[in-house]
Amino acid sequence: TAPQSTATFEGRFAREFAEMVVPWLAEEAPDPRLLIPNEPLATELGFDPASLRSPEGLLLLIGNLVPSGATPVAQAYAGHQFGWYAPRLGDGRALLLGEVAGADGRLRDVHLKGSGRTPFARGGDGQAAVGPMLREYVVSEAMHALGVPTTRSLAVVATGRPVQRETEVPGAVLTRVASSHLRVGSFQYARATGDAGLLRRLADHAITRHHPGAPEAENPYLALFDAVIVAQASLVARWMLVGSVHGVMNTDNMTISGETIDYGPCAFMEAFDPATVYSSIDERGRYAYGNQPVVAEWNLARLAEALLPPFHDEQEQAVALAVESLGGFRHRYSAAWLAGMRAKIGLHDGVADDVASPLVDELLALLQEGRVDHTSFYRSLGAAARGHAGPARDLFLNRAAFDAWVQRWHALDPDAGVMDRNNPVYIPRNHLVEEALGAATEGDLDPFKRLLDAVSAPYDERPGLERYAAAAPEDFGAYRTFCGT
Ligand code: AMP
Ligand code: MG
Ligand code: MG
Repeated sequence: TAPQSTATFEGRFAREFAEMVVPWLAEEAPDPRLLIPNEPLATELGFDPASLRSPEGLLLLIGNLVPSGATPVAQAYAGHQFGWYAPRLGDGRALLLGEVAGADGRLRDVHLKGSGRTPFARGGDGQAAVGPMLREYVVSEAMHALGVPTTRSLAVVATGRPVQRETEVPGAVLTRVASSHLRVGSFQYARATGDAGLLRRLADHAITRHHPGAPEAENPYLALFDAVIVAQASLVARWMLVGSVHGVMNTDNMTISGETIDYGPCAFMEAFDPATVYSSIDERGRYAYGNQPVVAEWNLARLAEALLPPFHDEQEQAVALAVESLGGFRHRYSAAWLAGMRAKIGLHDGVADDVASPLVDELLALLQEGRVDHTSFYRSLGAAARGHAGPARDLFLNRAAFDAWVQRWHALDPDAGVMDRNNPVYIPRNHLVEEALGAATEGDLDPFKRLLDAVSAPYDERPGLERYAAAAPEDFGAYRTFCGT
């Protein structure tokens, strides 16, 4: 049976942006084995979910069988990495297989990660290991279940090819699905070519795919930029609300769609602390939890620079327009974040922002002072709204300060139902992720599947899953994550 069933592939980006792609084929996998298929996502895309398990389906998932209509390409992009501009990054170990119009008619990219070296590989080996690809799978699917816009994971296939890391580890390909792979860095690349026509076409393509309302605006390209500002402000607010640390917010890892992309050194914060950093290479904490909103704004300024020519023929005018638009980011972000915080602590609409805001700020100071577990705290605060403040109170050393805060908060009659829908019980906690990836690397996928099951319904507390809701044991120690593995 044809694995694509009702879904048909297009090679639209490959066809329309020849200047920004290199047609390329995935490396052949010696012994491909399906580790984890995402059947609900397959259905959404119009694939027959059973076909993922067929021999042809397996080959399609790793690019060793090119479906009709698809044109695999490595995409070119530039990017600021830790603040430094790199003119030519691009897919070093990844390929865009093509676009698929899902069951809902929306166009989605099907993309491979770990499919072998491309002309953009530089010093890299083009490979990906089972552990990091399963990390992207479980964390991106958890983010989706948490309601955070994100690229999705369709499958992880072990290639049967060993990969050299600190030790030799099994190789894998992740099949990723995204609204698109247009990045801030894609626009930086197009701008740097000096081809004004290409830059405009890329912007038009982004408008069609992500912000179809923009052409009606007085200045469609500025409307595109505004739409990206809104999408990113809301995205980063959601990261902050769930305690997610992206870890490598380089401009090549920021999408135009507003989806989270590239789960390399990502991790979830445990003890609340804005200075939280997990990535081993982020020595100065550029991408610390608390810096994420400012970094997003910085990245959007780089996008504005790339888009100046389409904004206006006169550079001075273009800059003025860009600066005015960018000024909207802070307000958008703060509004999205405060709305989310209000829901986390169950405040009714009737509570004014000038009451809510200081209450939230004082709470954050208490959480930081007490190094309180972010996820456990908010969930247990739901019980406090029902009159059982004990479990939340037990998380603090300074109980008197907590009691004083709770008293003021409780007087506002918080809504426990709203809180339970906004505060997850289960997130992919770092020690659980490590445990699951370690076992999977040794060939046992059961811990991974149990973790995936828990985090796929994060707000729904179930008996028997207590260990997935608990903080890391003391002896887990300080957590470190790594890029590009
Ligand atoms: P990242 O930090 O994951 O966003 O990756 C930055 C750049 O490095 C991108 O151009 C990737 O395609 C490339 N890259 C990362 N790992 C590898 C690898 N193992 N082989 C080739 N290219 C890689
Ligand atoms: Mg990347
Ligand atoms: Mg990466």
